Amino acid sequence: MLLLSRSLLSRSLLAASLARLPIRAAHTMSVSISSAFDGGNIEFVGQDAQVVQLRIRPDPYTELEKKQHMQWFAFRATLDHAADITYEIGNADKASYPNAWPGSQVVASTDRKNWQRVSSTRYDKESGKLSWEWTHTGTTVDRSVFFAYFDLYSYERHLDLVARCATASNAPNLKVGSLGQTLDGREIDVISVGTGSLQAWVIHRQHPGESQAAFYAEGLLVRLLGLDSQGVVDGLVSKLLLDYTFHVVPCMNPDGAVRGYLRVNAAGANLNREWANTGEYVAPTIVRSPEVFHTLAAMERTGVDAFVDVHGDEGLPFTFFSGSEGLNVWGTRLERLHGAFMGAYSRANPDMQPKFGYAATPKGEANLAICSNLVGERFNCLAGTLEMPFKDNAGNPAALSSFNGHRCARLGASLLDALSYVAPQLRGVEEPTFALPDDVYVLPVEEKAEVDAFLAANPKKMACRQ
Ligand SMILES: [Zn+2]
Repeated sequence: MLLLSRSLLSRSLLAASLARLPIRAAHTMSVSISSAFDGGNIEFVGQDAQVVQLRIRPDPYTELEKKQHMQWFAFRATLDHAADITYEIGNADKASYPNAWPGSQVVASTDRKNWQRVSSTRYDKESGKLSWEWTHTGTTVDRSVFFAYFDLYSYERHLDLVARCATASNAPNLKVGSLGQTLDGREIDVISVGTGSLQAWVIHRQHPGESQAAFYAEGLLVRLLGLDSQGVVDGLVSKLLLDYTFHVVPCMNPDGAVRGYLRVNAAGANLNREWANTGEYVAPTIVRSPEVFHTLAAMERTGVDAFVDVHGDEGLPFTFFSGSEGLNVWGTRLERLHGAFMGAYSRANPDMQPKFGYAATPKGEANLAICSNLVGERFNCLAGTLEMPFKDNAGNPAALSSFNGHRCARLGASLLDALSYVAPQLRGVEEPTFALPDDVYVLPVEEKAEVDAFLAANPKKMACRQ
């Protein structure tokens, strides 16, 4: 009986695969599309001559925002002969931020390590399609090409990073552990290090489609623990580990990242709206947002003196630090700390800049369900959301490469320069004083007209130009 069943099963599988074969064979130019890998997201719609039609698969429904987010995509295109192919995402206009598409450029890689921008990327507002061309050479080297919204950072690489951190045996007071588990059963990894009394928390990738944040975490941890130099850290870090105890969560949302989501976790929760109750919506909860629940509980145990929540932003072609202007606790102290932090960060790494960013929320009107707002208010500390662009970084036109994962990692390393600069006045000083002209707080600008004027005056042609 068992044998018979197996035989029937194999016959029906064979019949099904044979039924598909002639379709493939009939189109000699057909491209095979796959997103069945860590972080993959695309649906194959069809192929018309040399145009491959695709759709982004939406995230699960988000109860709080009453919608299904989508914008992140990543897929593999396999073709065994030379051809010029147009890739076309037909539902780009249904994305969470359709206005962010103009000026965006898809990234491509054949080795999954080095990513290049695809300059032919364009968004047609009329048809609502995002498309680009790719010349497949037919050689072995580009038989499979990976395309994505930004450089891929896999869960395996995350696990490797955590394992590397655990080998940093010289690091003072090093603890590599887990805050708890996600809904899919992954650990919420945390790396703590340092003997200082100041508690710095840096968390990453609450929004899984923002892979910039994972590269940033890697750059931060590599410098903090000397992972690329046999545990030997630079002089600034040695001093910093006496001032601070760091708590780094490299990936807040591994479930969403593996599943190829843009904004949510396995239960459809947008983690960056789960940090406080909002009317009828109770958050965080262990059943819907354990990632937030466990992290906030750990912060309560240690206290927080400096906090950075690391993200990627679809729209603005800048790296920026969105502050706490809307908090009740915002005043002279936090404003001066914020200004000095941004001044030091921008001096350390020109990929950071203070001028362009989200418009400030009026004092007292901050949404406390957003992570950095809740942490800033609860702990009365320097806190913000750090955003890196999907587009090229217009704030640093002198850069020799377009904005990519390597530059995200360098921004993570440079965070330590900024935290070092503000450390002496982070606590216990009601009116901090900083001497340099660019330590002065800058009210960020978000208006499109001002951004466009800046881009138009840019001396170098940026990949983010429309
Ligand atoms: Zn985000």
